[in-house]
Amino acid sequence: MTPSAIIQECPQCAASITGDSRFVMWCPECEWNLSRPDRDTPSTRSGPLARLRNRAADLHRQVLGSGVGTPSRDPGRVAAYVLASAVHLFALSMLVGGVWLLVATWPSPFGVIFGVAGVGFAYLARPRFGSLDGDAPALTRQEAPALYGLLDRVAREAGAPPVDVVLVDGAVNASAGTVGLRGTHVLTIGLPLWLILEPQERIALLAHEMGHFGNGDARRMRYVGSAITTLYEIHGAAARQRVRGGLGAIALAIVVNILTGLVRLLVLGLIMVLESLTYRESQLAEYAADDRAARIASPVAVAGVMDKLITKAPAVDRHLESAAHRGGDLWEGLREYVAGLPESEEERLRRLARLERVRVDATHPPTHLRVAFAVSRAYGAAAIVMTDDEMERVQAELDAAAGRIAREVTDLARAALYE
Ligand SMILES: [Zn+2]
Ligand SMILES: [Zn+2]
Repeated sequence: MTPSAIIQECPQCAASITGDSRFVMWCPECEWNLSRPDRDTPSTRSGPLARLRNRAADLHRQVLGSGVGTPSRDPGRVAAYVLASAVHLFALSMLVGGVWLLVATWPSPFGVIFGVAGVGFAYLARPRFGSLDGDAPALTRQEAPALYGLLDRVAREAGAPPVDVVLVDGAVNASAGTVGLRGTHVLTIGLPLWLILEPQERIALLAHEMGHFGNGDARRMRYVGSAITTLYEIHGAAARQRVRGGLGAIALAIVVNILTGLVRLLVLGLIMVLESLTYRESQLAEYAADDRAARIASPVAVAGVMDKLITKAPAVDRHLESAAHRGGDLWEGLREYVAGLPESEEERLRRLARLERVRVDATHPPTHLRVAFAVSRAYGAAAIVMTDDEMERVQAELDAAAGRIAREVTDLARAALYE
């Protein structure tokens, strides 16, 4: 028993509960104090959240029954592509039309005004494919040959193109994405998440992210996502005019407001359709990526990552926030904190995650459903198993970036104080 352990009687069922004074006291028997009352609002039982939850459950039943299939042939995905293409084509037609007006009617003032407006609108609605964040230094192939070597192996197994750039940051997360016109494949590894995973779970994490490259999810997100960004830009530009001034000005403002109001309505409708199409298929994409990860690293490793994402990850998130203010070695402190995290607190977070069911970020299926899917299927032996030596070499390369990331986490926490 730890020095901070306390024993008390459950006020609800009178069972004796052993807890840790540093964490929330709760009862595993009757789940007293499992969640704060304010978190269990009625809105989670009906309304949009409940609908999302039902859709998640439907999709889960489908993948449990017949597997993930071929997400690229999902009708929702095709529809999203068509709609996004229409948005991109619209921007292109404004550019072509604007230039044509300018050239064909030169030097008529009518042509200049509408031509410039068309080109300006096309600029506003241009597809934005993002760029590499200049602030987050990349880990190059020369700096991290062992890590890139491992990623190449995982990519081959996942049927994915090789990673072009690895970014390491201070988030309790990892992600895969493509940026720029040429579609550079960028993998972001959050060092805190990496540190709390077992070696085979790290391979599962990398395999899941590479699975997104292999399934073309990153490319699709960029294409559809940039169309959604364009729509938000148009929505912002079609802002309301203030109605004031002389009679003429008021009449003009009213007419303009009616027109921009119609544009906003149409654009919002398109955004909602695109986002709802994206919702289902991004969930499907997560199952497909989990499927690859289970084959490459074993279903046990995938389930291990998921479990840590709902137990240790939120605890580490909170710990880092306060530790950043206290000073000292951030990563050493993190290791100690995780080693001392009592099982009762992990179990509380595990049950809480199941209770909340719908993840905050709705692009991922509820974590306990992903675990159920990963362990429901039969896979052969893991395709990649690393020796301790190999994993240590990878770790040494990441350790080289650890000091910089600790400073970033600390600076961010301090900046948040002054906001
Ligand atoms: Zn109780
Ligand atoms: Zn994913």
